Amino acid sequence: MLLGEIKQLYSKSLAPVYPSEEIQSLFEITAVHVLRQTCSQIHSNLSKITSPEAEKKMESILERLKTSEPIQYILGFTSFYDMEIEVGPGVLIPRQETEYLVDLILKENKFRAGLSVIDLCTGSGCIALALSKNLPDARLTATDISPEALKIAAGNAVKHNVKINFILDDLLHPLYLQDKFHVVVCNPPYVRNMERSLMHKNVLNFEPPEALFVDDADPLIFYRSVASFARKYSYPEGRIYVEMNEYLAKEMQDLFEINNFRNIEIIKDLDGKQRYLRCTV
Ligand code: GLN
Repeated sequence: MLLGEIKQLYSKSLAPVYPSEEIQSLFEITAVHVLRQTCSQIHSNLSKITSPEAEKKMESILERLKTSEPIQYILGFTSFYDMEIEVGPGVLIPRQETEYLVDLILKENKFRAGLSVIDLCTGSGCIALALSKNLPDARLTATDISPEALKIAAGNAVKHNVKINFILDDLLHPLYLQDKFHVVVCNPPYVRNMERSLMHKNVLNFEPPEALFVDDADPLIFYRSVASFARKYSYPEGRIYVEMNEYLAKEMQDLFEINNFRNIEIIKDLDGKQRYLRCTV
């Protein structure tokens, strides 16, 4: 088959599942990966014959894409903060808005030497990895309740040659820690069950629900734990950075106010949604 014909096959078969720009990008990601060519080479090679093995690979990826399975799980990796990060069905696929959380932390802490930082609910380890890479003399700790997630995160740390202290821990019932931290970061589950209907099938059917969803009746449960964790384990003047539900800004502000944190600021993401809260202990 010509590469252009495979592209058409992608367009036709994925039309019921994704909008056309997304199909275009799924085709490009797949072709770049399978053919080991750059995106511009792919576009100039559309009238060339594809080898039978490459054609078979691209077709089998297409079969999985048709079921709404995320391309990141099919290929086993994604890109986060210019790093290739391994992902699997046991961890949430790192999001672009989380890259912006990393940006924010780096902007405000880049010139502080010898920082000790903890990433609670680390998942694939993406936040801890990006911080560790970009704050070279910081000490990083990362926790998660899932052994499977920690295995993936630890593999990512080895791959990127960074040292992170991983701890298997439940944020809602944390273990006793010896350390204290200057920065506490957390991107916990924050989507209310009632918001499920707003989500695409590729999230609902494939990503780990325990990394995404919270009870409608108590959607800030993890942030209460972040607040008490920070109270206990932060250095004076320590900073908290969390990603949060855009619809719960008022409640989030109140929660950190009631717990006597200072300099509370809600920050918008690139789509203008109230997505992060930063405060000082
Ligand atoms: N922002 C993610 C989403 O909407 C949710 C991430 C999370 O729950 N921490 O898919």
